[in-house]
Amino acid sequence: MRVLITGGAGFLGSHLTDRFLSDGHEVIVLDNLITGNLENIAHHFGNEHFQFIKHDVTNYIHVPGPLDVVMHFASPASPVDFDRIPIQILKVNSLGAHNALGLAMNKGARFFLASTSEVYGDPLVHPQPETYWGNVNPIGIRGVYDESKRFAESITMAYHRIHGLETRIVRIFNTYGPRMRLNDGRVIPNFVSQALRGEPLTIYGGGRQTRSFTFVEDEVDGFYRLLMSDEVYPVNIGNTVETTMIELAELINRLTGNEAGMVFLPLPHKDDPKKRKPDITRARSILGWEPTTSLEAGLEQTIAWFRQQMG
Ligand code: UDP
Repeated sequence: MRVLITGGAGFLGSHLTDRFLSDGHEVIVLDNLITGNLENIAHHFGNEHFQFIKHDVTNYIHVPGPLDVVMHFASPASPVDFDRIPIQILKVNSLGAHNALGLAMNKGARFFLASTSEVYGDPLVHPQPETYWGNVNPIGIRGVYDESKRFAESITMAYHRIHGLETRIVRIFNTYGPRMRLNDGRVIPNFVSQALRGEPLTIYGGGRQTRSFTFVEDEVDGFYRLLMSDEVYPVNIGNTVETTMIELAELINRLTGNEAGMVFLPLPHKDDPKKRKPDITRARSILGWEPTTSLEAGLEQTIAWFRQQMG
């Protein structure tokens, strides 16, 4: 297959690039590098099955030659970015999704949308099945991400219904692993870099809020299975082991041998979801997928990578 990945120099996009190339496919990465990093894909430069094009996909996308798959993974995704570059987020998930869909139509390619557990907002149903419509504040700080991803899902379904485009939608839950930015702002990169510097871990709010963390290799395997399936409706891909931020901090301090403890700070966004955990019944039954890497094993690999980056 000849696969185009928007956001392919980012955390998820670059792992996806690795997976397609190692399975013998051809990959074209489009990225404007606003949050992506060429170092994530540098090991493929010189590979004749790989091409990188620096491009902002909110502008018209022109790619010569045939395409079998368009994966729309471009979007800043850290809550820190919601404050910093909200308009870029809105644009890449609306104009960018529109351009990527148009490209897929034009090439007769299958379209795959990277959506998010944020479509559920601060959920009132727990765990979250795909049938839950969510609890999102459209004018809150997080709304720029949540609402634009909801729009991206809508336009994807409209292209499927009106144009008969082959489409897939994955709802990605918190994912972590090597190649997250050191200054990404999300909880695992923050805690790991603080721990490796011997600093106290910054817990926002009371630390009793929960997330369910998936190791990137498991997550990418879920994407791949969904792409190859016939499933048009959204599928949650995430881990079902739920952890409080205090438990996460304790675990990271133990694994790194950090003795500086924790410090409690105010929540940056008042809409910060209080809990999040996927119902993965559909992923299990339709894709035969479930995560296999424990949080401890995944964190050990992540810590080793951060340690190397921090020299
Ligand atoms: N968080 C924290 N300390 C940090 C960064 C984040 O306690 O240094 C909390 C944050 O308030 C949220 C959870 O960790 O409740 C997960 O935040 P993250 O930014 O990783 O992503 P989210 O799941 O909120 O999109």
